[in-house]
Amino acid sequence: MESERQLQEILWISTGPEQTEALGEALGRTLPAGAVLALDGDLGAGKTTLTRGLGRGLGDYEVSSPTFTLHDLHEGGRLALSHFDAWMEGREKALLEDGGDEWLGGDGVAVIEWAERVVRWLPTPRVEVRLDHRGEEERLLRFQVVGPASEPLAMALQAALLDAVRSAGQAGEPAHPENS
Ligand code: ADP
Ligand code: MG
Repeated sequence: MESERQLQEILWISTGPEQTEALGEALGRTLPAGAVLALDGDLGAGKTTLTRGLGRGLGDYEVSSPTFTLHDLHEGGRLALSHFDAWMEGREKALLEDGGDEWLGGDGVAVIEWAERVVRWLPTPRVEVRLDHRGEEERLLRFQVVGPASEPLAMALQAALLDAVRSAGQAGEPAHPENS
């Protein structure tokens, strides 16, 4: 749907985990309240690594993989971080019935790993992040804000992304400008 793809995709190449973490940290410093990040990519693509940086930027949180804990909530920093992992089967049920609304809404930042599995329950606007292996230590990260672009949150998300990418360096040129 065209209205789902209004803002420009941002590409970023990471050449090591510390870079991915640094980008996450920059995002954590700049993302507005209410931001939702939907992360997708194979095992080891760097979803948790990005989230670890994000936690540092948001409030010195110690993020670990919630693969087995379902959901972690970090509080006390600039904004709360709600970290959800949809890897295991049946977790969409948890999103629907066991508090997902609280995890995804609100004034904090929500991150969902394996977001594709629960995508139809995720709110917009949101940032979709696709991480792909390009080598042992190289990853291609693609960021796209989806949802109604006229909404202030969508614009703030896009601005935060650009800021973070600039401050973390290594900004990739958007390869497919869809709205230039
Ligand atoms: P996921 O959550 O997507 O399964 P993780 O973040 O847990 O992935 O793991 C990523 C793994 O890949 C880590 O072992 C990390 O050290 C390694 N790695 C190598 N290069 C990178 C990179 N550029 N960005 C992120 N992780 C990287
Ligand atoms: Mg992970």
